[in-house]
Amino acid sequence: MQTHVIVGGGMTGHAAAAAIREKDPGARVVVLGAEPEAPYARPPLTKGLWLGKEESSVLLAPVDVDWLAGRRAVSVDTARHEVTDDQGGVHRYDRLLLATGGRPRRLPFGGDRVIYYRTLADYRRLRGVAGKRVAVIGGGFIGSEIAASLAQNGKEVTMVFPDARIGARVYPAGLGDFLMRTYEDRCVRVLAGEQVTGIEARGDETAVLTGTGQQIVADAVVAGIGIVPETTLAEAAGIRCSDGIEVDARLETSAPDVFAAGDVARFPSPALGRSIRVEHEDAALTMGAAAGRIMAGSGERYEHLPFFYSDMFDLGYEAVGVLDARLETIESWKTPFREGAIYYLDGDAVRGVLLWGMFGHVDAARALIEGRRAVPRAELVHAIE
Ligand code: NAP
Repeated sequence: MQTHVIVGGGMTGHAAAAAIREKDPGARVVVLGAEPEAPYARPPLTKGLWLGKEESSVLLAPVDVDWLAGRRAVSVDTARHEVTDDQGGVHRYDRLLLATGGRPRRLPFGGDRVIYYRTLADYRRLRGVAGKRVAVIGGGFIGSEIAASLAQNGKEVTMVFPDARIGARVYPAGLGDFLMRTYEDRCVRVLAGEQVTGIEARGDETAVLTGTGQQIVADAVVAGIGIVPETTLAEAAGIRCSDGIEVDARLETSAPDVFAAGDVARFPSPALGRSIRVEHEDAALTMGAAAGRIMAGSGERYEHLPFFYSDMFDLGYEAVGVLDARLETIESWKTPFREGAIYYLDGDAVRGVLLWGMFGHVDAARALIEGRRAVPRAELVHAIE
């Protein structure tokens, strides 16, 4: 009987556990999850749970494995094929999956006054805040989604971030300007181009201080300023890492019988011709499941180009590939800023497609990026309609 150990009880670990169980019903599967929770879906923490969904709706289907919640792996011995946890437990493996995700980047001040929003516990803490004023630090995925959700829950939200626009790393300037107007129309105060220089506790209130001397006094401070891939365990075990744990097309790391998947894994993308790391749900689900199948004996390779999506107020989109606002973009709007496709180009090659208010076209967009469908540049504007 094979023993599979999975470090990380997030969506990736859950998908892998389910895949192993399906492919090898007789295998022993142990999951070490640092969080005390049963496995849950993360995307609703910034969206659905604020828009009427019950907390129980985020729970993922139970898998018949040894799910050890509240146990953090502290070391991996790749020679002995053993993982040790923070309660002194030693878990021998035939195959090991590192699905350790990422930890929130933190500010050098503010301590636990700041909710670095990532877990169900963070959601519960923010839900429990009685006051109305919330300062949101960061204008990326978490900042933009949670600010919209809080505003829709009657909170008085102030956003602060260093970029010139919401989502500036992702969206072209025109769309970013439209987003700024949308947030302001919904009574969100947006302080763009502002550094946070300090955070002060003032009784039950917290003040966020900015580089231009503004003070945002709030009942809660939420931050989404990016994540750092959690490679500590892998690095200490001598596994090759560079901005994530390096894996090959079989999701295998530099150590024999050790695999990695999800936010933490840097994998080769045939579509893009380079290695990438993707911090979105589809990557967690598809890479987790592929890792589980491979560990249980499948001969497949992981060649999927993950998609992602976001919702802000009544706006939403799906996207695939590299959405880097520094690339050249071609915009094709049916209705400006409501429905349209944006193509991100590197020379003549399509690297990413943003399907703003357009749903069900991800496969067509992926075909463009993978070069399975060649559309001359001049006709790109009509490639997906
Ligand atoms: P993110 O999308 O990378 O955004 C980070 C934001 O924080 C950027 O606006 C960044 O501005 C800003 N920032 C960085 N340092 C700052 C500082 N010192 N003070 C103020 N702002 C600062 O990361 P995130 O929003 O924290 O999300 C975390 C992870 O969860 C990401 O990997 C994301 O992909 C994932 N996630 C995905 C979804 C989705 O797929 N819909 C939803 C939620 C979360 P600069 O650009 O100027 O650095």
